[in-house]
Amino acid sequence: MSNVDWQGKHVTVAGLGVSGIPAARVLHGLGAVVTVVNDGDDERSRAQAAELEAQGITVRLGDGDTLPPSTELVVTAPGWKPGKPLFAAAADAGVPVWGDVELAWRLRGQDGREPAPWLAVTGTNGKTTTVRMLASILEAAGLRTAAVGNIGVSLLDAVLGEETYDVLAVELSSYQLHWAPSLRAHSAAVLNLAPDHLDWHGSMEAYAADKGRIYEGNRVACVYNAADPATEDLVREADVEEGCRAIGFTLGTPGPSQLGVVDGILVDRAFVRNRQKQAQELAEVADVDPPAPHNIANALAAAALARAFGVEPAAVRDGLRNFRPDPHRIEHVADVDGVAYVDDSKATNTHAAEASLAAYDSIVWIAGGLAKGATFDELVTGCAKRLRGVVLMGADRALIREALARHAPEVPVVDLDRTDTGAMSEAVREAARLARPGDTVLMAPACASMDMFVNYNKRGEAFADAVRARAAESV
Ligand code: ADP
Repeated sequence: MSNVDWQGKHVTVAGLGVSGIPAARVLHGLGAVVTVVNDGDDERSRAQAAELEAQGITVRLGDGDTLPPSTELVVTAPGWKPGKPLFAAAADAGVPVWGDVELAWRLRGQDGREPAPWLAVTGTNGKTTTVRMLASILEAAGLRTAAVGNIGVSLLDAVLGEETYDVLAVELSSYQLHWAPSLRAHSAAVLNLAPDHLDWHGSMEAYAADKGRIYEGNRVACVYNAADPATEDLVREADVEEGCRAIGFTLGTPGPSQLGVVDGILVDRAFVRNRQKQAQELAEVADVDPPAPHNIANALAAAALARAFGVEPAAVRDGLRNFRPDPHRIEHVADVDGVAYVDDSKATNTHAAEASLAAYDSIVWIAGGLAKGATFDELVTGCAKRLRGVVLMGADRALIREALARHAPEVPVVDLDRTDTGAMSEAVREAARLARPGDTVLMAPACASMDMFVNYNKRGEAFADAVRARAAESV
């Protein structure tokens, strides 16, 4: 269906949401006959439906499972589970299903402009950071670009908006990749693979396979994490364009066709003339903010994609220097009485928390929330030696408490038996009591926030407010 004539085409858009509403509008604008189906039928969806209907789009609320007759294409919100009856009905009727990414990919060049190539990033953790680092590097190289995906510009806007881009830095989730069968990136990276969203994908294998789709058809480079063999396996399994190379990144000394770190310098041994003997300096570890190990890995992945696109070393350095992390990602809030307070509210799973816990020597850890089926034994074992103390809160805190009892029984634990939003002030107070000068109080909950907060942003803000209030008291 590329170069589709949309005029009169019957398209069903599944889901009234951040991707569904713009998709419905765009397709309607192209002349398609659009029906939106949505499971929910609440006040908000009724208001949204009224707006779309005023424009001539049909909306069916309260039934996301029935495929409207005469549907020729389904465009689904990425979060819809593959097991939903709507998709079985589409398969039975021989109707293709596209996600929001597939739609954007197919609409590139629809307006006659030369489409910008995509440098794509996925992984369990670090996607947003890496994509923003990549965009910063591409900008430093003088290229017209945008960080696209969960942040900044939406994919449809990037593809169809007025702005013309030379290249896009695209963040892709496993859900989006699942529904993007024809996507072909210029180059792509899988940062890491840890169990996440398994309830959606059904199994680790299915999750990995969806992530691996990002490498399909790559033209120049498939970037993998040398410390995470599962990512390299995905490269091996991918069907790529002739001449496309596997490029590794490592926190150690790089081998040929890798980027890595030597004596505090980020070096490239992949995109140099003689990779057997030569390495090119790109930047210093100190150019990366924060210079925590996992973030250096993100910087190397971003650098690899930029180098694959032909960016010069100096632009890699400048782009990394210009980059500032988004809020709530290992964000230093304040020092109070010689103790650093760090907000990593975005650490909503154990893999993310593991990375930030590895970045500090002596930690008072604030953790807990919704565990989403995770177990905590490995996480606790890995950081036990560096824990000064732990403050637990949230719905599933008992799981962490039990893991601590098993693997770090000597570490003092404060268990806050409350889930109201005010609990964060008490958590910070208790953490301050446990901390010694030189320690870091790290709020990296390893859990989702929705039991106590609207989202991880609000959780991070509550932490920062409590820390600032403390700082004001101690002056
Ligand atoms: P994503 O977009 O994949 O959710 P982010 O860049 O927003 O990733 O970072 C989310 C969290 O994951 C951060 O709070 C940080 O603790 C952790 N993180 C970032 N990069 C990595 C990495 N390379 N490996 C493991 N954890 C990471």
